[in-house]
Amino acid sequence: MDNSPRKVLRTVFGYDDFLENQREIIEAVLKGNDVFALMPTGGGKSLCYQIPAMLAPGVAIVVSPLIALMEDQVKGLRQYGVRAAYLNSSLSFHEAQDVQRRAAEGGLGILYVAPERLLTDSFRHFLGNIRPRLFAIDEAHCVSQWGHDFRPEYLRITEVTRMFPDIPRMALTATADAITRQDILEKLDLRRAEVFISSLDRPNIRYRVQPKQGEKRQLLRFIKDEHPQGSGIVYVRTRKRSESMAAWLAENGIAALPYHAGLPADERVDSQRRFQEEDTLVVVATNAFGMGIDKPDVRFVAHLDLPANMEAYYQETGRAGRDGRPADAWMLYSFGDVGALLQLFALSEGGDGIKRIRRKKLDALLGYCESAACRRKLLLNYFDESHDGRCGNCDNCLNPPEVWDGTVAAQKALSCVYRTGQRFGVRHLIDVLTGKATEKIEKWGHDRIKTFGVGKDLDASTWQSVYRQLLSAGLLAVEPGRFSSVRLTDESWLVLKGEQTVFFRKDLSQPKTAKGRRPSKPADLGPETEESRALFETLRNLRLEIAQRLKVPSYVIFHDKSLKEMALARPATASDFSCITGVGATKTRRYSAVFLACIRGEEIVLSQYPEIGEITVEDGS
Ligand code: ADP
Ligand code: ZN
Repeated sequence: MDNSPRKVLRTVFGYDDFLENQREIIEAVLKGNDVFALMPTGGGKSLCYQIPAMLAPGVAIVVSPLIALMEDQVKGLRQYGVRAAYLNSSLSFHEAQDVQRRAAEGGLGILYVAPERLLTDSFRHFLGNIRPRLFAIDEAHCVSQWGHDFRPEYLRITEVTRMFPDIPRMALTATADAITRQDILEKLDLRRAEVFISSLDRPNIRYRVQPKQGEKRQLLRFIKDEHPQGSGIVYVRTRKRSESMAAWLAENGIAALPYHAGLPADERVDSQRRFQEEDTLVVVATNAFGMGIDKPDVRFVAHLDLPANMEAYYQETGRAGRDGRPADAWMLYSFGDVGALLQLFALSEGGDGIKRIRRKKLDALLGYCESAACRRKLLLNYFDESHDGRCGNCDNCLNPPEVWDGTVAAQKALSCVYRTGQRFGVRHLIDVLTGKATEKIEKWGHDRIKTFGVGKDLDASTWQSVYRQLLSAGLLAVEPGRFSSVRLTDESWLVLKGEQTVFFRKDLSQPKTAKGRRPSKPADLGPETEESRALFETLRNLRLEIAQRLKVPSYVIFHDKSLKEMALARPATASDFSCITGVGATKTRRYSAVFLACIRGEEIVLSQYPEIGEITVEDGS
């Protein structure tokens, strides 16, 4: 058997190097220590318990709250030749017995269970017989009321782990602020654990925020130009928008499905499944979509409406690019969005303290949208992590926005609010500033006030931007209960009196498109060519065919990253093939022949490659 973590990493999983903290965590567990690990999504938490589990006899018990994911995890592990199984309510009595029998006979290395199952008497009895090797508690933030997915059963996990005081325990999570972290350590009996905290940064995600200027057109162009072949999630605020946007994308030739809590349960399950398994599907969803999505090759997350706060934004965008390949977090926002959030805030209940926290969270989000600084720095700083502010992979770093002295424009905009009585919406105010002859203006006599037509020097979309930025900066407020009207704040007067200058960032009216994109290829394999792109597509088709035959999601066979590398490197022998990222010994045995033939340009008949079918035979449990 392989005897070092690194060797397992290479021969089984086909990766060259550990990601941040993986090696340290694995070593700590192998020494018999308890571990707490906070790693960002895609940071490679699974390997931290899988590798120790493979390096010693006995069964590692993985406690996971998401029954839906266990099956995928186990399928994925079996593809690597790892003896894994799960126990949950989806199995029949006999299937469950069979799994337990295999575990008892030493035929199992990793067993996934839901917490409810862990707590049953029969499972405790079973554990007594097999003597587990390790307890790994995934999504450990579920133990804390402070986290966002509290699961009461998690509180009782220690009833079971205390029966095995010598067996190391691991707790893993991707989201936990300081309070939640402390809570996890206490509630899971991990006070003496070694603690590993990885950077939350997701360097492969490119953050961009743009003003909304025709959202449908912008979205379509973004998807068509940048992700014509990729799967993605589009977040919107309401169920209705989820449906209308999905329908509209579909009309425009993009495979898209709606997803929200109002859809029938079976339809939701089905959409989630399809998203997980298909390569090029877009889901237009409310924030109900996400929990349980661990698809590694989501290429973009687009927000058409502002998320609830920065935490939500980070979690939602974090679903992109778990495979480490370039991915996009792309967001549009408008005056209406900002107003809607301020409105919600103004109407929210709660004491002063709570309101202050909410206001702070809201300001952070609005500031994030309007800022001219590095988005990554803003995000990480929000989560108490420092950053030098030159990430080179956000819109502000790539195309530093110009700023302009907007003091005079701000004075005009504010005085227009004042002179019209602080009860009109921005659209009307802009009509007044630009001197339009509308019915409403005539009705209210606004063509006779001093600010009528004083803003002809700027166009309407610039005025939109001015109002939006004034609102974000607190130089303007929305009227509680009256959605679209705005009024002045104390600070507005400082600007009106000329005591405060104002700078605005210029809106990038032409969003950057495909031309400026980074090449998404492995560093030293040379640039992509027409040929390599075509081969990549062919390899994807082959992968899909195999995935359908084995009834597993495509990425379980190979990630896009591996296929890209194959298309560029064109391995000719099985040993070349095994050098591709993500290709370990088992995958080489199963897939090298068929993929090499495909790379040589041969016509593939899957039935001639019986070795790829192995998995279905032993897939009984
Ligand atoms: P998490 O659960 O932390 O979100 P996963 O364990 O699902 O992350 O891993 C994310 C992705 O990174 C997976 O596709 C996994 O195969 C890959 N991965 C894990 N470890 C490594 C590594 N050392 N090198 C390259 N890729 C890795
Ligand atoms: Zn940046």
